[in-house]
Amino acid sequence: MNRQLASTESLQAIAQVVAPRETHWVGDGFHVSTVFSPYLVDAQTLSPFVLMDHAAPRTFPAAKRPRGVGEHPHRGFETVTFAYQGEVAHRDSHGGGGTIGSGDVQWMTAAAGVVHEEFHSKNFTASGGIFEMVQLWVNLPAKLKMTAPRYQQLLGTTFPTLRLGSAQARLIAGPLLDKHGPAKTNSPITMFDMEFTEDGEATFALDEGTTTLLFMLRDDATVQDGQAISSGELVVFDRSTAGSIRLAAENGARALILNGEPLNEPVVAHGPFVMNTKAEIAQAMRDYQNGKMGQLPLKESAG
Ligand code: MN
Repeated sequence: MNRQLASTESLQAIAQVVAPRETHWVGDGFHVSTVFSPYLVDAQTLSPFVLMDHAAPRTFPAAKRPRGVGEHPHRGFETVTFAYQGEVAHRDSHGGGGTIGSGDVQWMTAAAGVVHEEFHSKNFTASGGIFEMVQLWVNLPAKLKMTAPRYQQLLGTTFPTLRLGSAQARLIAGPLLDKHGPAKTNSPITMFDMEFTEDGEATFALDEGTTTLLFMLRDDATVQDGQAISSGELVVFDRSTAGSIRLAAENGARALILNGEPLNEPVVAHGPFVMNTKAEIAQAMRDYQNGKMGQLPLKESAG
């Protein structure tokens, strides 16, 4: 691809490009590669984002019993699950639950604590098919970590769409140009995915001093002034520099963009808990063991 750059346009610097990791199983339903975590990228650089797993497209045969991951707790952050292909069913101890399908997003605020399970839906289990998903962990400000849990089921049909050059964006959260995504966030966040509908470029600008991460969901692209990236790679932009972000790609390429104000608070992530201190992690373990994060309702309501 040979792209002409407008000499007047300033582009934000790239801090690092993170290659995809080896895949591993989460339960028996999610075959994922960890895109980022505090073990791969400095936690303050990622803030307010903590971790992201990508389950790349994979075919599951029809089955009788849903595959997935059984009962487990979370505290101190939010899990945001993007279903790209296939369906995910979720139930939690706070009464949240539902099934999300292709194009939908589930935003679960664990806050003070939930116990939940995540499985392929009954319908997807019965039919089998291609499954693709992203799960992102979004940190909560310290003052909100011990507040009540919340569950948002965000249907793809409710996301405003925006034209960004050769790509169509779906705005999930926060402001972009003259639109606003439907997700309720607990700190300033803009989140959107985009798909190229022709060969070409897409340019956008986000607030100065904020964290911006770009994950290539499908196909290759060129970012900024000639940085080639492939499917499964993550671009971390340099927060200390200003400027636009430009992506050049071919028809069908897809990317997910995460942007947020850094929380500037200590991050102590341990297993399913993300807190500010080690003592708070120890307390979370005790609270879970003592049943203070609740329990799942009976099976009948499973999606
Ligand atoms: Mn979970």
